[in-house]
Parts: sequence; structure tokens; C-alpha cells
Amino acid sequence: MRILVVSDIHANLAALDAVIQDGGHFDRIWCLGDVVGYGPEPNECIKRLRAFDGVCLAGNHDLAVVDKLALGEFSPDARDAIYWTRERLTAANADWLEALPSMIVVAEHGITLAHGSPRDPIWEYVATPEAAGASLDSIDTPIGLNGHTHVQIIYRKPTYGVGIVKELPTVNLPISLTLDRMLINPGSVGQPRDDDVRAAYALIDLEAMTLTQRRVQYDISATQTLMKHARLPDRLIRRLRFGE
Ligand code: ZN
Repeated sequence: MRILVVSDIHANLAALDAVIQDGGHFDRIWCLGDVVGYGPEPNECIKRLRAFDGVCLAGNHDLAVVDKLALGEFSPDARDAIYWTRERLTAANADWLEALPSMIVVAEHGITLAHGSPRDPIWEYVATPEAAGASLDSIDTPIGLNGHTHVQIIYRKPTYGVGIVKELPTVNLPISLTLDRMLINPGSVGQPRDDDVRAAYALIDLEAMTLTQRRVQYDISATQTLMKHARLPDRLIRRLRFGE
């Protein structure tokens, strides 16, 4: 079975569609949260995701949009986009967001899914080996998948050895999920922040137990034009061009 792993789509349908197309044949989608917020097509992205078999977690933006999370921790631009999204989200899609779980353990394959981190699924930004190690210590599965930082990265805890190794991913190179413990971030579909403007995602092959980090170009201008028409904050529109 092949799994398309996506995170931080942020209502960017052009990016999501490019990822789905590029993913080729897959059986399920695992979405690590933040389907909405920032971008111009929240309802369309939810509809697209729900057309596939799979699971989806709640991200901090998803929860804020349905008023399950206070807005104090969000930047002014993020807050504006959350208000904008609230006004447009259909009642059915709001219900769907509200019901999303904060963590999922896929026990039969030894993988834990979280948005921020397994120890703090909503808010923790895992940006250091220490934080990754603490998260791995908090789960019972060898592998953890998380999003939230919008940075495609792998933290590896070697079976033989000490400490955690931070690995920049080599795109298109499958890595084994059975050798070491790892916390893996597939990056962001709709708003990458790792100096690469291409949409980021990962593919898992559950028979071979491998994961492949991938990037794909999408029509950034199309998303930016929709954002301009929607009068979403300027800085959110510009950052898509810089991958920041
Ligand atoms: Zn996000």
C-alpha cells in the first residue's frame, strides 16, 4: 500500500493538486493538519482531501478557524486569514474540521502521526535534535511523522549510536523505515518555509517500509492571484515566491 503524506496544505489548492498528480498511484492520504489558514481555497482543499481514503489530523490553524483555539499565539496576518476563512467555510466543512483528531497511531506499521509534535500535537515546533529526541521518547512506535514547521527534515536516532542526527532530506531517494527510529517532517504543501518554493510531501510504501521525500512545482501565480482577489494579507501572498 502506498501512502501520500501531506501537511500544512493551508488552503492552497493548486499546490495540493500538483502533489496529488505527482504522487501517481497511491492508496491513501495521511494529512498531518493545517488544511486551512493563509490560503484562498479552504473549502476546495477539504473537498479534495475528503475525496480520497485516508486520515487527517487537526492543526493549529484548523482548530483556530472553528474557534477551538485562542488566537493570541497567531501573527496578525495569520489571524486575518483565520477570520477570512471563518466567513467562507461551509457549515459541513467546519464540522469536519472540528471532529479531526490531534494524534493517530498506526500501530500495525509502527508510525505515530502528529501535527506539531507527538508530545505537543498542536503547538510545538520541532526545530532541534533535542526536541526531536524528546518527541521520539514520548511515543511507542519507532517512527513519528509531524508537520507544523513547514520544513522538510528527518531527525534520525541511530539504533547503534548515541544522539539524534539532523538530516536534510535527499528528494526522490527512498529511505528505510525499519533501521533507525526517526521523526520525519514531509514539509508543507501550501506554504514551504525551507527556501524551496516547490510543494513538499512524502510517499510511504508500507510493503517495502520506505519513505521518499518529494518536491513538485505548482502554479504559484494562480494561488497568488486568488489571494489578491480575496484581499488576503500581502505578506502571505509574497512569501510563496520565496519559500519562507
Ligand atoms: Zn502550518
